[in-house]
Amino acid sequence: MPANVHPKPVYRFAPSPNGLLHLGHALSAILNQDMATETSGRFLLRIEDIDLTRCTPQYEQAIYDDLAWLGLTWETPVRKQSHHFDAYVEALAQLDAMGLIYPAFLTRGEVKAIVAEHEAKGKTWPRDPDGSPLYPDRDRLRSAEERQSLMQQGIRHAWRLDMNKALHLVAKPLNWQETGDGERGIISADPAAWGDVILSRSDAPSSYHLSVVVDDALQGITHVVRGLDLFHATSVHRLLQTLLNLPQPLYHHHRLLPDEDGKKLSKSSGSTGLAHLREQGLSAADIRRLVGL
Ligand code: GLU
Repeated sequence: MPANVHPKPVYRFAPSPNGLLHLGHALSAILNQDMATETSGRFLLRIEDIDLTRCTPQYEQAIYDDLAWLGLTWETPVRKQSHHFDAYVEALAQLDAMGLIYPAFLTRGEVKAIVAEHEAKGKTWPRDPDGSPLYPDRDRLRSAEERQSLMQQGIRHAWRLDMNKALHLVAKPLNWQETGDGERGIISADPAAWGDVILSRSDAPSSYHLSVVVDDALQGITHVVRGLDLFHATSVHRLLQTLLNLPQPLYHHHRLLPDEDGKKLSKSSGSTGLAHLREQGLSAADIRRLVGL
């Protein structure tokens, strides 16, 4: 391709079919499609259904119905993450070969107990930008023999990134270019704030962070447009992209819509559900207006 010809921008909307779409999703989906249209770019839909316990075919169908009702069109076939576990396993194997992951055996309950015990002594436990406690050191500090023995006993485990080791290997500051509704410009990434993030779960051979960076690269996504709730997660994504040698998209984190109580909309926010609003007789144009576009 001649140097002066830029490839077409590629946008994506990537919902998880674990609930019904609400106005916040409509804002995200419409914004992606509008930006693709304005730049003669492509608009893709991706179904993020690695959580096989919470995602259902009914919610997936509802996504197609709601987006079609909004007047959106997307390329087919739609990428469904549950059909591509092999791609995530391969990325995990790359990180393993680099010595950057370890098996994590602690259950949610055990982590909670460790944190509670620590806090009971009046000490604070570090938390990630979403407020969850960082994963304890315990599994990272185990010897190779101990890990082997626990795995041989069939103890369920996830795989986590050894954050310090990964940062050491990258050995340069990471950043991303942001054009969204919050902080803008070149943003310094701070992956350490997330601790040893999970890359593969005990009940799914991937995690949100791993599959999102693999898919954005595989699908040639040039512009990631999503809610400000994922702003800080971008730090982890930039680290994984760097470790896996994947291209760096541009990021645009848009405002979030509050519910009636001023809280962030959730999948259970019934009255703002798109299917509900459609049944109430609202039109796609009404939805555009309601989300402020
Ligand atoms: N699947 C994620 C969600 O529904 C969005 C992922 C992304 O846009 O990076 O919140």
